[in-house]
Amino acid sequence: MPASSSVLPSVRLLATGGTIAGAQANHARGYKAAAFSINALIAAVPQLTELAALDVEQVAAIGSQDMDDAIWLRLAARTQATVDTPTIAGVVISHGTDTMEETAFFLNLVVRTSKPVVLVGAMRPATAISADGPMNLYNAVAVAAQPAVSGRGVLVVANDEIHFAREVAKTNTTQLGTFRATHRGLAGLVHAGRLHLYAPPVRRHTSDSEFSVDGLSSLPRVDIVYAHAGMGRELIDAAVRAGARGIVIAGVGDGNLAAPALAAAAEAVRAGLAVVRSSRTGGGVVERNIEVDDDTLGFIAADELNPQKARVLLSLGLTRTRDPLALQEMFFTY
Ligand code: GLU
Repeated sequence: MPASSSVLPSVRLLATGGTIAGAQANHARGYKAAAFSINALIAAVPQLTELAALDVEQVAAIGSQDMDDAIWLRLAARTQATVDTPTIAGVVISHGTDTMEETAFFLNLVVRTSKPVVLVGAMRPATAISADGPMNLYNAVAVAAQPAVSGRGVLVVANDEIHFAREVAKTNTTQLGTFRATHRGLAGLVHAGRLHLYAPPVRRHTSDSEFSVDGLSSLPRVDIVYAHAGMGRELIDAAVRAGARGIVIAGVGDGNLAAPALAAAAEAVRAGLAVVRSSRTGGGVVERNIEVDDDTLGFIAADELNPQKARVLLSLGLTRTRDPLALQEMFFTY
């Protein structure tokens, strides 16, 4: 029996666009992300009224490839204001899948709350055969409305899985099971609104985070440079010239880079930039001082973070310090 609406938890849906709101013209392969308003999506899932009293705010209407610092700062402020509203039980944020892991990790580091904050997306447009958005949205609202979810940081719900912001990565361009927990496992499962929660995360997040974007109108620029066989130094030099305050190397293997690039990265550190070595492999830990002498060269090892998440943490870290050892400690902490 559905609960009566007077006892339903209040959940706010902050909409940003993405495929979950995407429309496809007939059987064409292409589609336009963010073509639907969130209200049309909610109307397609009438069962949501059995889970929560939903109110909706459209924060952006973009494909998440266009997500940027300005929208992140606005979204963080709106998320914080929402969780600070005593009557609200939790927040759902609809988002494109392309950069969902970055937005989730950013919010995981800057929003102060123990309430559920759940990002949701879809791989198939709303008009596709067997669209995955409606069930993902239903499951996301079920997770956000559930008090037992508290204290787990920002989550991503898709394909019946609940992921931690820190762990989740988009690993496939088209398949419904694109989201994977590349290191420490799932936050849980959700089957048609029924939750199976696993252990909470051990790394610091949300209410326990030292980062704040209050009063910031921009974030320190951090560029990612992708390593490859035959890598030169030119792109690292270009990042320095472009005004980056930090560089993340998507290194080969254990965060390695070819000798000319290594020399350029060491020069960047001497010029005052922070350089993080991450890995392009999609998994595994980048440790300090294995093949690269981080202690001598002043580099930071990304630990378990992929390049795009290392970029988020480095940018926030640079709002507090430029000291490589203090920044390194953050990579071991968050
Ligand atoms: N590129 C679009 C986005 O990230 C569509 C992909 C998706 O949402 O799955 O918003």
